[in-house]
Amino acid sequence: MKDWKPATLAAQAAGAQERETGGIVPGISVTSTYGRGPDYALLRPGNIYGRDENETVRQAEAVIRALEGAAATRLFPSGMAAIAAAFRTVPGGGRVVMQSGIYWGTVKWAREFCARRGITLDEVEASDLSLLSGALSQKADLVWIEVPSNPWLKLVNIEEAVTIAHAAGAVLAVDATAATPVLMRPLEMGADLVMHSATKGLNGHSDVVAGGLSVKDEGLPAWQAICSDRHDAGAILGPFEAWLLMRGMRTLPLRVERSSENALRLAQALENHDALEAVWYPGLATHPQHALAQRQMQGGYGCLVSILVKGGFEAAARVVSRLQVFHRATSLGGVESLVEHRHVIEPHTGIPENLLRLSVGIEDAGDLIADIEQALR
Ligand SMILES: *Cc1c(COP(=O)(O)O)cnc(C)c1O
Repeated sequence: MKDWKPATLAAQAAGAQERETGGIVPGISVTSTYGRGPDYALLRPGNIYGRDENETVRQAEAVIRALEGAAATRLFPSGMAAIAAAFRTVPGGGRVVMQSGIYWGTVKWAREFCARRGITLDEVEASDLSLLSGALSQKADLVWIEVPSNPWLKLVNIEEAVTIAHAAGAVLAVDATAATPVLMRPLEMGADLVMHSATKGLNGHSDVVAGGLSVKDEGLPAWQAICSDRHDAGAILGPFEAWLLMRGMRTLPLRVERSSENALRLAQALENHDALEAVWYPGLATHPQHALAQRQMQGGYGCLVSILVKGGFEAAARVVSRLQVFHRATSLGGVESLVEHRHVIEPHTGIPENLLRLSVGIEDAGDLIADIEQALR
């Protein structure tokens, strides 16, 4: 299994099987407690109580760990719960440097959390490394970046960011939700932690809410804190969600390949469209960080495409209302294509009024392109 490529690891759920019955697909372990023998020794060492550990959760974690090339992985009941677990490692009075213009849920929560804890939070345009190093001329505990960012689709040079963060004494964490481990493995670039909203591409079927954290080195003090926090504070994923996630991940490389291909074809088809002001996609040669995307991402550029409609808010709203294949809904990374008019969701964050974020699914690319084209007419 050590040498298995991602497609093999994913399809075979990193070797998980039903040991009792020989079933090829493991069952769902629903127990909330584990037995002890007459000598009061645990029947299975490590299995005490369902809040601490669960066999199905462990199996799903093993798949992510293998795909990520991580030393260890922990699953949480949502992506935000995983992010919160990482931020809770920062001591009161500490300092976080966070990339600006990232997932709004992270920004809103981090601002409130850091204010409550007396943690200094500095938001910086980390895609510009000179600004990141400027912010890290003073010590920090945690540097949080999101690559590619949602929905601005900016990239951060992860290797450089690691060097800068480590020199400032900080742990570098990457939210790599939009890339998935199929396209980008930040731990191999030196990042300490990688986070995924498994609700998105990892599960890919819009039927699970989950989040994961993976670590490069289990000895990292922040990782010890994250593990005991999940263990003791009880933020474990439910077994059914873990099982669905594992099932979803069996096709992860296939889905990511197709949705990235579709997204690139769509971005190319729309790039010079008269009704659009701009198309943002890291796979386009016109993307300001295309060269970095080519180096940092393998096998595609992901499912997220942002388009800016000429004519402002109303024009964008009209396009959204006319779409027939794309569902009007939040989220990303599913098999079905979604569109979101982000300004409606976050009107106060500087998001352009005419920006539509597309999450491109695995449908026929021609159908998707035709849908957008008819809506733009
Ligand atoms: C959705 C998302 C999250 C939060 O994940 P949930 O599973 O919804 O809690 C974090 N980061 C990014 C980039 C996301 O897209």
